[in-house]
Amino acid sequence: MSLATNLGFPRLGLRRECKTALESFWQGKTSEESLLKAAQELRARHWTIQKNAGLDHIPSNDFSLYDHVLDMIAMTGAIPDAYRNMQGLTAYFAMARGRQNRMSSGAILDVPALEMTKWFDTNYHYIVPVFEAHQTFSLNSCKPLDEFLEAKALGIVTRPVLLGPVSFLKLGKRRDGKNALDLLPQLLPVYVETLKKLAEAGAPWVQIDEPVLVLDAQTDTEAAIKQAYEAFSKLPNRPKIALTTYFGTVTQNRSYIYNLPVEALHLDLSRAPDQLEPALMAMAKGNTILSMGIVDGRNIWRNDLDRSLDLLRHATSKLGKDRIWVGPSCSLLHSPIDLSAETKLDEELKSWLAFSVQKLDEIVTLAQTLRGNSAESAARGKLQEARMALASRRSSSRTQNPVMRHRLGMIAPEQTRRANPFAIRRQEQARILQLPGLPTTTIGSFPQTQAVRAARAAWKKGQKTTAEYESYLEKEIREAIQWQEEVGLDVLVHGEFERNDMVEYFGELLEGFAFTENGWVQSYGSRGVKPPIIFGDVARKGPMTVRWSSFAQSLTSQPVKGMLTGPVTILQWSFVRDDQPRAQTCRQIALAIRDEVGDLEKAGISVIQIDEPAIREGLPLVTSERAAYLAWAVECFRLASSGVKDGTQIHTHMCYSEFNDIMASIADMDADVISIETARSKLELLDAFVNFKYPNGIGPGVYDIHSPRVPTVDEMIALLERAASLLPMDRLWINPDCGLKTRGWDETKTSLTNMVAAAKTLRELHKLPTTRATLKRPESV
Ligand code: GLN
Ligand code: ZN
Repeated sequence: MSLATNLGFPRLGLRRECKTALESFWQGKTSEESLLKAAQELRARHWTIQKNAGLDHIPSNDFSLYDHVLDMIAMTGAIPDAYRNMQGLTAYFAMARGRQNRMSSGAILDVPALEMTKWFDTNYHYIVPVFEAHQTFSLNSCKPLDEFLEAKALGIVTRPVLLGPVSFLKLGKRRDGKNALDLLPQLLPVYVETLKKLAEAGAPWVQIDEPVLVLDAQTDTEAAIKQAYEAFSKLPNRPKIALTTYFGTVTQNRSYIYNLPVEALHLDLSRAPDQLEPALMAMAKGNTILSMGIVDGRNIWRNDLDRSLDLLRHATSKLGKDRIWVGPSCSLLHSPIDLSAETKLDEELKSWLAFSVQKLDEIVTLAQTLRGNSAESAARGKLQEARMALASRRSSSRTQNPVMRHRLGMIAPEQTRRANPFAIRRQEQARILQLPGLPTTTIGSFPQTQAVRAARAAWKKGQKTTAEYESYLEKEIREAIQWQEEVGLDVLVHGEFERNDMVEYFGELLEGFAFTENGWVQSYGSRGVKPPIIFGDVARKGPMTVRWSSFAQSLTSQPVKGMLTGPVTILQWSFVRDDQPRAQTCRQIALAIRDEVGDLEKAGISVIQIDEPAIREGLPLVTSERAAYLAWAVECFRLASSGVKDGTQIHTHMCYSEFNDIMASIADMDADVISIETARSKLELLDAFVNFKYPNGIGPGVYDIHSPRVPTVDEMIALLERAASLLPMDRLWINPDCGLKTRGWDETKTSLTNMVAAAKTLRELHKLPTTRATLKRPESV
């Protein structure tokens, strides 16, 4: 029978209850017990939602208090040595966030967090496992079993989710640099034991995620996958295995993937529909179930149910109803929870959308229709409704802006090039900016304190007038500028107090965007983002940041950096319309940012940063698709940034990325200065720039802003000395890893004071100019 299945449900909760519970626990306001209780309540609620939706396979162990890869680190006992003297949640959160406190003996405990990086091409971040040279594994937590039993006690038999052993190892790093997959034989017994325990507890199915199967084919992956799943298949007593892949096609692994000894194979047919045919052909003979990921788990558009049914029926005709399941393309972790909680979207737009709860309904509708049972008449009504919504979206004039379309057609190549090369621009910039050697700056945002957020909330609710809110922001900016001058930073920022979020802020001021009230998607740990929805052509209605940047600049003779989010990042962190190519939408955004850059320059802002932290994550997972993406992504950045004079210094910023495979494109972006996140990896990420001989200015992050831990002066001097030994000192900048919006003021102030002290020490050591040559306002003002 065609079953309705799910791969994973969002964790944070409709009102982000998990975030609240975690953060108050971290602040010491609530107990571990109340944190665990809040988590349990959320799990129960989410299972119940799925049960009531009519799902046949409901996942468990998809919930996590921080990250599912970290859960596997804990489960398999792969806890690095530095955290071994801690217990339970203390160790768990120390790995996630670092830990710094004074012990009763007076000694200071100071452990950094594990590295975090993007989960495939999503905006979700996972904790990177680190395997010791002599890594051993042992079953160290029973989370999958506990959560299975927890659901069972509620009368819900779930399908526990495990990150597969091959993906787990491949996503990690070995401290000795060797291939982590060599650890597979040691790791497998932990999975075997878990499978046994789940079988004993009565789990009929288990879901094992192997998303690495959508990456380029590799012989070591192939060998490891075969070894692992053959070992599992031989277990006398185990649940049936649904092997899941997502985020792309697996056809590069077609020689072995369809014949693995598993009971079901899940494919992402939303992202990669072309892989259906080869799968059907290869699977025709066997009896493996094909789980069809047909409802997009990564976007918010309503499913074209008729089209999905065509695919499902076609597949059914080849494999038979019993061998076809319906599901989301991937875990719904990447979708918001419930569209019906949205009260401010207009009905028309709302009718075009589906969030997790609505997607579950789509999945059930599709499965019921496929089964053709008595529930079919209810499903028929839903099909009709979906058809009408789709027709309305296709014919709506709200999605097209003729002026924008015209301008798009007129883009000339010279608009995507600076007038002169970096070597010439830098002289002009040096003349105007008069910066010391190793200039210091920050990435843009300062702490978004409770007070800042409360002020914005009051303004949005109409409890504060615009004038009141704006004068509040001015006060914050004034203090921030004053403080940066005192501490001795060189290129200042206004602090981004007016921004809720670096994408939402711009989206709200641009045409073609819509916003949700509760459409949160987890980014990392307790943090979520609320991606805007790009439903129509994008156009700028007027200046978006000039008011704040020029106000800040008017307060100081130091240069203040204008702060914009780049087109690729706005695209990447939004839910993007699926009715035109992404590149086209990105060009529209680039034109809007270009206009803003021009207005900032006109207002006398001589340093402008265009953040592109998401450029790397948009990189297609398979090599063959990368060049095309990079070409339009770089073109869009240049379209946004190239309209300025030589003397205007363009910065960009990137974080959370391995840069090796896109170095040429980063250089091609031709920003005058790039700041990158490198502290967590102890400058490892800088290697790419060094090896490539990156030609422009570069600011390697010298401290990790994702942890409340305050870095010492010496620690930063050490990092800087390393950076200075690797890169020419006249192009080196000093800055933190990323913006400081998630930090408190105390840590921020101490950290930046230390950072400036480190910069001063280095300037003295290397006899570099220590102050701005002239303290007059930038010339272009
Ligand atoms: N300018 C942004 C900030 O400082 C950059 C954030 C980011 O890279 N994610 O917050
Ligand atoms: Zn960043």
